[in-house]
Parts: sequence; structure tokens; C-alpha cells
Amino acid sequence: MLASRISRISAGVACLVASLAGATLSSASADGETGSGTPTYQEFEASTYVDVDGAYVVNGDEVVSTKADLRKFFSSMVGPFGNHDRDTHDADLVVNRVSGRDDKWSASQALNLTYCVSTRFGTRHANVVSAMNAGAALWESASTKVNFVYVPAQNGSCTTRNTSVLFSVEPVNTSQYIARAFFPSTAKSQRNVLIDDSIWSSGSWEPGDILAHELGHALGFRHEHTRPEAGTCFEDNNWRALTPYDSASIMHYPQCNGSSSDLEFQASDAAGLRALYGS
Ligand SMILES: [Zn+2]
Repeated sequence: MLASRISRISAGVACLVASLAGATLSSASADGETGSGTPTYQEFEASTYVDVDGAYVVNGDEVVSTKADLRKFFSSMVGPFGNHDRDTHDADLVVNRVSGRDDKWSASQALNLTYCVSTRFGTRHANVVSAMNAGAALWESASTKVNFVYVPAQNGSCTTRNTSVLFSVEPVNTSQYIARAFFPSTAKSQRNVLIDDSIWSSGSWEPGDILAHELGHALGFRHEHTRPEAGTCFEDNNWRALTPYDSASIMHYPQCNGSSSDLEFQASDAAGLRALYGS
């Protein structure tokens, strides 16, 4: 699904694409440039996957909430200089930027990142709870300033409408991605982690690591492979480097010239977290 040039442009938001084993990105990975035929906005919108609750999914596993925001996203990718508008960043985990500011939680919120896990996971519920716990623990072990808090009391009404938690973890049935997440700037109405059943059969990618990648987005981190050093899978320039480039970062898709095939959490990921939130 990421094979076409247009969908490559849309491949920049916050989920893990379901192409790990098949490496369907390879045909799209020759470069990160738009080339001669930049799509029109209409073509781009038509080619962008619309998720269960109406959100547009871009960059593989990230959400854009409204049509107006999708248009802004498109403009930030292709105009006025298109994807050729690439800065040379010689430094380094990268944080999402919105209107020129880091997209991160306040210090007090970062210590209380509450979530529920929907009972709609059924027989997989305990597995999801455990994988979320494992993913959260990787980030938490890197800094005392970040703390995810599981709130089982909200599991029975675990949707984006539940205001007792910061975000919800819910099942989805899609072939578009394994899981997708959100950024701190995402509206509450789209602030969920959606998990497809394929997470349980993702080869060398362990569920806990996949969810750690998603929680990385939830903390504000972009895909590491949007950096020019990756040489492929470029998304956009709306980010700021926090550490030196690491092709093995948990935020780097292995199929985008990554150097790690198993999506493990790296020392550079821990360093990036501390650079953004403190140690
Ligand atoms: Zn992602």
C-alpha cells in the first residue's frame, strides 16, 4: 500500500505499516523525493486512508483529524518547494513540531499519561495489557519524568470519549497498519492507540516493541527515517533533532534502510527522551 508515490507522501504520520515481512516499501524506497509528478491535493486526499473514526492516517501510523488539517499537512509536504525542500540536519530521535514548537506534554502531564485498554479486545485483553505495559516500561526506564498510568477501571468504556483517561487503547480491524497512535497535539477525539490482530503475528517485531514505537509517537517522536541520513521514506521537515541519527532507533522502520530488523529500543531512544523531557 505504500508502493505508489502518492501514498509514499502520505506515509508520514504515526502507525506501523503492515509491510514488515513483505517489505512492500522497497519499491518506494529509491529516494524520498517527489520527482516530476507531484500529486494534486485532490489526488492526495483521495489516496489517503480514512480510519474507523474518520481520521486520516498519514506516514503509516499517524493521524490527521480534519480535512483542513489534512490540507495543511499536504501543503507542508509539497509546497512551495515540494519534498525537495529538505534541510540538512546534521544532528539527530526527532520530535514533532507544530507551528514551530515542540509537540510534547507538559511536565505534570508527562508524569500522568493515563490510559485504559478496551474490554473489546476480548480473549486478547490480557495480552494487550501486558504488551502496553512492556512498551511503556521501555520509555519509563529511560527517565523519571515520564510515567504511563494504566487505569483498568475505565476499560469498560474505553473510547476517545472517555475523559477520565488521556487516551484509549482500542482494537481495530484493518489491513492498513498493525497499530497506529497520535501526537500530544492530537485532539482528544482522535487520541487513541488502535491495534490490529496482526500485532500477534508480526514476526521478529514483538508486540511490546511495536507498542513502544506507538507510545513514542504519543510522546511526540516522529519516525527516525524522515531524517535525510535514511536516504528514503522521507516524510516532511516538521521536526527537530534531539540526538544523532540512529538507523536502529525504535522509531525507524526497519524497511526504510534501518539497521535493526527487530524494532528494539535503543540507547539513542532513551537519550532522545531525556533530551525532550529530562532525566
Ligand atoms: Zn510509526
